[in-house]
Amino acid sequence: MAATSELAGQIALVTGASRGIGRAIAMQLARRGAHIIALARTSGALEELDDDIKALGQSDGATLVPLDLADHDALDRLGRSIYDRWGKLDILVGNAGILGPITPVSHITPKKWDALLAVNLTANWRLIRSLEPLLKQADPGGRAVFLSSGAATNTKPYWGGYSMSKAALESIVRMWAAESEMTGMRINLFNPGGTRTEMRAAAMPGEDPAQLPAPEQVAEFVMPYLLPDCPVNGELINYKA
Ligand code: NAP
Repeated sequence: MAATSELAGQIALVTGASRGIGRAIAMQLARRGAHIIALARTSGALEELDDDIKALGQSDGATLVPLDLADHDALDRLGRSIYDRWGKLDILVGNAGILGPITPVSHITPKKWDALLAVNLTANWRLIRSLEPLLKQADPGGRAVFLSSGAATNTKPYWGGYSMSKAALESIVRMWAAESEMTGMRINLFNPGGTRTEMRAAAMPGEDPAQLPAPEQVAEFVMPYLLPDCPVNGELINYKA
């Protein structure tokens, strides 16, 4: 897709922007002219994203936030920094996630359980707390999309840790969307389905990745829900090829 200025002047925070679906969403938003705040732990990969965004013609590139989402207090500081610099946030993509162990529920260690909750659930709730006032400042209202999974509702043995974290995420996002109905914000969930990424390869090592949609296809699909005329609120959007 050629670069456009559809989102010029708009600020978009994408978590997990260093690779996979988050990186593809960040690039799609940048191609439409949004300024990207790219969050992940891997600085080198964020710098490569910055280079690719500059290559689109955005001379100021992205704002890079090398951060572990398990550092929840840092997410409050991030909200403060965004407020000081822009006074608003137009788009939030709560994409970062971890798979955790594929193992029986009774075998999940407390440490792995806590990590799943910290990254897949609590970090997104802390972002909601920290960023809601900024999303309300966006005109016509901020758009937020959180990445879920079919595992949130399917009973898939051995996927219990990941499943519970996505089920809880869906619950809190639906609640926030319902509470925000009158604010102009548009808040939704997105299930990309099996997508050609590192997480999927780790989950399904025997699968041929070539059979799966690329992150770029999935990112293109979710774009309408991140644009100012996003038509829905409180929905779970499922990727369809
Ligand atoms: P991925 O390739 O593993 O990428 C995950 C991203 O999250 C990376 O950018 C990673 O960056 C970031 N991340 C992980 N832990 C983090 C932490 N503690 N702090 C900050 N960033 C962190 O995964 P993906 O397949 O693109 O998945 C993206 C989302 O889609 C996830 O929420 C996943 O659950 C969901 N999903 C994926 C599939 C699929 O088939 N791929 C299916 C259904 C749902 P760093 O490692 O650099 O921190």
